[in-house]
Amino acid sequence: MRMRKFVDLHTHSLASDGSLPPADLVRYADAADLAAVALTDHDTFSGLAEARKAARDFPDLDFVSGVELSAQPISGTVHLLGLGVDETAPSLLKVAKFLRRAREQRNPRIVEKLQAMGLDIGMDEVFAVASQGQAGEEMVVGRPHIAVALCRKGLVADVSEAFGKYLAKGAAAYVERERPDAASAISAIRAAGGTAIAAHPSQWRCENSAQVERVLRALIADGLQGVEAYHSDHTPSQTRLYLDLARRFDLLVTGGSDFHGDPKPQVRIGRPRVPVAAVGREFLDKLIG
Ligand code: AMP
Ligand code: ZN
Ligand code: FE
Ligand code: FE
Repeated sequence: MRMRKFVDLHTHSLASDGSLPPADLVRYADAADLAAVALTDHDTFSGLAEARKAARDFPDLDFVSGVELSAQPISGTVHLLGLGVDETAPSLLKVAKFLRRAREQRNPRIVEKLQAMGLDIGMDEVFAVASQGQAGEEMVVGRPHIAVALCRKGLVADVSEAFGKYLAKGAAAYVERERPDAASAISAIRAAGGTAIAAHPSQWRCENSAQVERVLRALIADGLQGVEAYHSDHTPSQTRLYLDLARRFDLLVTGGSDFHGDPKPQVRIGRPRVPVAAVGREFLDKLIG
């Protein structure tokens, strides 16, 4: 009998830029009384096996295999969640690898800019942060790792200052990285049996609901299947707008915290509350597979 009423379909672990081992993340999801949790690390599947195994100890918690892929901006930040993916599908592995290689190109350039500003920071210190949960070819080194490295050196007070002063788009040490276009990311997710969801549409740079609708239409034309209506960044009125658009465009609805642990200390697993009823039991069962 299924009693639990809420899910969290967007979380990050040490396998990318979160701070918890995948097994701990699953344990916290169970402690938060969730019916299901998805691990959606950036550009890698390396945490999924550990998380899936850990989830076997919790009969009331279902596990969803996921990934988060960045795509070329249509407007602002375009991130896609692949939920219920087969992480052995070659097309998906190829896109994830492309994104990891693009990080390897970008990160030293960010560090060079920081050094040019007189900050005493090196890639070795960034790797020391990232390698806590990662190794080798699968490494996903992100700006949050650079932010934590800056904190450890006492060069900023916290992650948020690191982003504000240096790492955020438009800030002094920002460097773009290569990304696939949305159509390629979406088709790779779908070819892997996954469902392609637009993550945190609040991060699209849109002034009004007509602009949100325009981005959504473009992504639907690329094969998008659903929208992350609930997210820790969303205001209640944004969530209502995305739910309304999902209904009008016949899209699936998901939601999640985008939990990262230490890099985003204000975000908790299972918050905001995402009702099983909003996602739909049938869709959830398909994701669990
Ligand atoms: P990257 O994937 O390396 O480009 O870094 C992007 C990640 O940094 C996002 O997925 C967020 O987790 C995080 N991030 C972006 N902006 C901020 C911010 N202002 N404060 C803290 N974390 C942020
Ligand atoms: Zn992240
Ligand atoms: Fe994201
Ligand atoms: Fe995320």
